[in-house]
Amino acid sequence: MSEPPLPPPNQPVSPPESQPPNPPERAPALLRTKADLAAARPDLPAPVVLVPTMGALHAGHRALLRSARAAAGPSGSVIVSIFVNPLQFRPGEDLDRYPRTLDDDLAMCAQEGVRAVFAPSAAEMYPGGPPQVTVDPGPAGQGFEGEFRPGFFGGVLTVVLKLFHLVRPDVAVFGEKDAQQLALVRRLVADTNLGLAIEAVPIVRDPDGLATSSRNRYLSAADRELALTLPRALRAGQARAAAEDAAGDAPSAVAALAAAREVLRGEPALAVDYVAVVDPRTFGPPGPGPALIVAAVTAGGTRLIDNVPVVLPAGQNTERDFLDAADH
Ligand code: AMP
Repeated sequence: MSEPPLPPPNQPVSPPESQPPNPPERAPALLRTKADLAAARPDLPAPVVLVPTMGALHAGHRALLRSARAAAGPSGSVIVSIFVNPLQFRPGEDLDRYPRTLDDDLAMCAQEGVRAVFAPSAAEMYPGGPPQVTVDPGPAGQGFEGEFRPGFFGGVLTVVLKLFHLVRPDVAVFGEKDAQQLALVRRLVADTNLGLAIEAVPIVRDPDGLATSSRNRYLSAADRELALTLPRALRAGQARAAAEDAAGDAPSAVAALAAAREVLRGEPALAVDYVAVVDPRTFGPPGPGPALIVAAVTAGGTRLIDNVPVVLPAGQNTERDFLDAADH
């Protein structure tokens, strides 16, 4: 076979027709049981990077998959878990109608180079019914989501711990969208010496500013308009802090919060559970340095959470500011 002629210098080189620029997508192995996982685990090349999800994958999950792929490096492997965990839903929440889109999820996983998907049933994860021994999230899990969804973080951390034991990953990847969950997973790993690295991925938003979420598909067009007040309020808080900083004033948690509240108050149809400025590690009072404005609202029956980062200077914020902030 003769070699194709070399292109002239400085011309773009297109790959030969027979070789696509990207390797062909390979369907991930679908593991339905703990036994399937145990059988497949020895063949997963290290480092093994886990992305825990509840499925109905969207652009936010895709960013996690890409981060995981990068963390795994050229020779490591990414495994995604898809499990709608009944332990973290209360009666009356959306467990039964939570979107389940396994075929589409597998297609996204194939596109992003995922090696295996662990998608067990509830009976497989909790064969004896709800577990008797569960994880206590501790003080960082008491407020905010912990207050408005009692039992939620106990359910989340219990299933995350089970997944860590079953998969034994070197790295696990979580999104900053669920900032309190991320803080608690980091604490779980530190406090129980799990010995894996946790990687965080910034929030992915749709072009209109709404953070992508599996639950966004519940929103009607009118609900979505209403829901956009949430990121708008958070941006207003962030902008107030930045404006104070630019004016040479020390940005304060109270001023940032007031700006966010003002926007939320302008939309009385939006039910606000909380809006507050917190320390991203403890979900307690923010110190000097990185902080988060966090909020949870319900738009037309769909509950949404979101957050944005702000940086607070030393000596400006007190425990009292936080108490004001957490007041809702
Ligand atoms: P879920 O399937 O909703 O339990 O989410 C699985 C993981 O994806 C969690 O670590 C979430 O924080 C993360 N995630 C969900 N939505 C987003 C988003 N819009 N941006 C970044 N991460 C996200």
